[in-house]
Amino acid sequence: MSKDVPLPEVNIGMVGHVDHGKTTLVAALSGVWTDRHSEELKRGISIKLGYADATFRKCPLCEPPEAYTVEVTCPKHNVETEILRTVSFVDSPGHETLMATMLSGAALMDGAVLVIAANEKCPRPQTKEHLMALEIIGVDKIVIAQNKIDIVPKERILENYREIKEFVKGTIAENAPIIPISAQQKVNIDALIEAIEETIPTPERDLTSPPLMHIARSFDVNKPGTPPDKLLGGVVGGSLARGKLRVGDEIEIRPGVKDERGNYNPIYTEVVSIMASGRQIEEATPGGLIGVATKLDPFLTKSDGLVGNVLGHPNELPDVLYEFTMEVQLLERVVGTEEEIKVEKIKMNEPLMLAVGTAITLGVVTSARDDIVEVKLKRPVCAEIGDRVAISRRVGTRWRLIGAGRIK
Ligand code: GDP
Ligand code: MG
Repeated sequence: MSKDVPLPEVNIGMVGHVDHGKTTLVAALSGVWTDRHSEELKRGISIKLGYADATFRKCPLCEPPEAYTVEVTCPKHNVETEILRTVSFVDSPGHETLMATMLSGAALMDGAVLVIAANEKCPRPQTKEHLMALEIIGVDKIVIAQNKIDIVPKERILENYREIKEFVKGTIAENAPIIPISAQQKVNIDALIEAIEETIPTPERDLTSPPLMHIARSFDVNKPGTPPDKLLGGVVGGSLARGKLRVGDEIEIRPGVKDERGNYNPIYTEVVSIMASGRQIEEATPGGLIGVATKLDPFLTKSDGLVGNVLGHPNELPDVLYEFTMEVQLLERVVGTEEEIKVEKIKMNEPLMLAVGTAITLGVVTSARDDIVEVKLKRPVCAEIGDRVAISRRVGTRWRLIGAGRIK
């Protein structure tokens, strides 16, 4: 991305059922195809969290919505467009087996675009499951993109619109704008940008607290066979929830790594450099995805090894919890399956999949009375009182969302 545009200030999730056009829409807005890994290209679906930045602009001469664009020069008036803001898109996988990755990414989202393809009946299972996940995690700034309008007749667009309206009734997306688009043919992208600008404002940020970054990706950036003296340190990717992080800062990563006794020990290192929007920056603030290069052994960061950890200044992070008590609100029905079954009460000793921030962990229920549930975690989390938890239960062969929790 060019150096003269502002850094991203808000994270917008791209969510919805597999194949409805999330990755195509991110590409239409940012020019970046986020399915970069060979496995993703081969299978044609997003597997990991992808991200890409886009700078929204406005033509000073066009009327809205035509005025909204990502082009530097308005093709109609041949004048330079004015910069509105830069946003980071978090592209979620929509396949039902990758729900944990979607939940992990949802922790970073300030708002979301729910992509719904007009050529299929609404709601498809993950359309519903992703919307429910947003509701549970508290992402309530939502724009609906009704996609693929280029391949269906007008009557079907209208019928699908009514299906969407019926589906969102009583949910957090009840009043979300519904924008008919074609991501592939780039139809109505201007109206979508306008709706995002109006519906998903940049949140007010806490810049004075010590930094807290949720790690959503981690990498070993060295090519195989690099000699040891040339090795670069491990890189972690994610987004700051609060505070500022600077190059040279001493940092701690919690819960850290497991020792032989099964205890997790925090990792201490230093910020070597920070990347945002393809450039090196000295100081990062909340909003936008960043890559933090450290002095860590890349063995620790390779293949997303540190996903779910939290990064901050030493001794300034929330506690590491090996167990916690949560106040639980169960859904009436299990979502995500074609056939929706009733959610039974949480039982003693049952295993649950818990999403806390970007961490996904298994918790075994040690006490369950009404809406107060205690769990002992397989892998601890770094979290604080009041944090939201998305709760899934094993139904058949898959984990399915069954409710929302809050750490007490
Ligand atoms: P994702 O799984 O939601 O990320 O979906 P993709 O972006 O990978 O798109 C799935 C398929 O739908 C691809 O073959 C796209 O080319 C196609 N597609 C996406 N958007 C549109 C659209 O607006 N119109 C048409 N006709 N096809 C689309
Ligand atoms: Mg995709």
